[in-house]
Amino acid sequence: MKKILVTGGAGFIGSHLCERLLDEGNEVICLDNYFTGSKKNILHLLENPFFELVRHDVTEPYYAEIDEIYNLACPASPIHYQHDPIKTIKTSVVGATNMLGLAKRVNAKILQASTSEVYGDPKIHPQPENYWGNVNPIGLRSCYDEGKRCAESLFMNYHKQNDVRIKIIRIFNTYGTRMNTNDGRVISNFIIQALKGEDITIYGDGSQTRSFQYVDDLIEGMIRMMNTSENVIGPVNIGNPLEYSILELASEIIRLTNSSSKIIFKPLPEDDPMQRKPDISLAKEILNDWKPVIGLEEGLTKVITYFDKVLTTEK
Ligand code: NAD
Ligand code: UDP
Ligand code: UDP
Repeated sequence: MKKILVTGGAGFIGSHLCERLLDEGNEVICLDNYFTGSKKNILHLLENPFFELVRHDVTEPYYAEIDEIYNLACPASPIHYQHDPIKTIKTSVVGATNMLGLAKRVNAKILQASTSEVYGDPKIHPQPENYWGNVNPIGLRSCYDEGKRCAESLFMNYHKQNDVRIKIIRIFNTYGTRMNTNDGRVISNFIIQALKGEDITIYGDGSQTRSFQYVDDLIEGMIRMMNTSENVIGPVNIGNPLEYSILELASEIIRLTNSSSKIIFKPLPEDDPMQRKPDISLAKEILNDWKPVIGLEEGLTKVITYFDKVLTTEK
């Protein structure tokens, strides 16, 4: 039985990961400061004796004897990571340093949840891992993008200098059940607006694109990456290459919810990337032919059912 630390474990992705790791017979420590995560996400795990919940901020040192670390602690939605940008950078940089220090001390394997945001507003399409990106170092999104880029550098340097066993994945836009209703990301916003019959808010003209991955596909890729042989360190893209414009996404959500909502257009936020789509050839090659299996309609339907229940309970 492995003892696994999941930082950010009470968040959207973290809660699915904790659940899957417990199902596979591991002992899980879920560490979270509840900035964007919630106890509600892991309530159903609390009775499992192999699940331990720790309220802790990764910017403070943390000591435990563990075999593996999945480092997910960091707000991921633009409205949340821009709320306190200095704290966001510290969470990525100081948080990664502490978790790497811990991994070094106990000789644990450590996986970093990096992001497609390291490519910024990409000039190469789709994005392969060897593309260095196009990031504004002083823009609104830089607290997140540059924090994650610095964390990747820390991971590589702890590996080279201290032989820490690392894995880096670059996650592309992911959605699924347990996203926060006030998360502010496009899929949760659109579904909630559609279910409530409110206007659907498209930022810009809706021609910008994203490629959306359902959370179960990500969790599968993440665990496969952690279990690769020691010489496989990444970074590796984990995402779904099916690309949609934001306008197409809005129409699809209106169709699937049978909503009477109207689409309205609002200003495009600063430095909003125009297009994003992962090149997943490396993931297929090193992760035992991993590929996303859940399409947009299937995934959206699950999330629509989930938010419908959440909204009914909130009433
Ligand atoms: P989330 O906001 O639901 O989860 C982040 C979790 O980290 C929350 O539970 C939050 O409370 C916790 N946290 C934040 N700061 C912390 C701190 N200082 N100490 C301890 N805990 C802290 O977001 P998510 O979508 O589940 O994202 C999880 C990870 O995946 C993040 O690192 C994010 O950057 C990365 N990621 C997500 C996406 C996506 O599309 N969802 C894309 C790329 C990368
Ligand atoms: N650290 C931690 N838990 C540990 C070991 C280290 O949180 O079990 C923290 C430690 O406090 C330090 C960081 O990780 O701030 C980096 O540790 P490292 O040993 O690499 O550097 P140093 O302590 O020499 O600065
Ligand atoms: N977006 C939108 N309306 C919303 C929320 C987001 O049009 O209510 C747009 C946003 O400007 C961006 C895309 O949808 O172009 C994806 O936004 P999200 O915040 O989900 O992810 P990210 O920009 O970090 O990829």
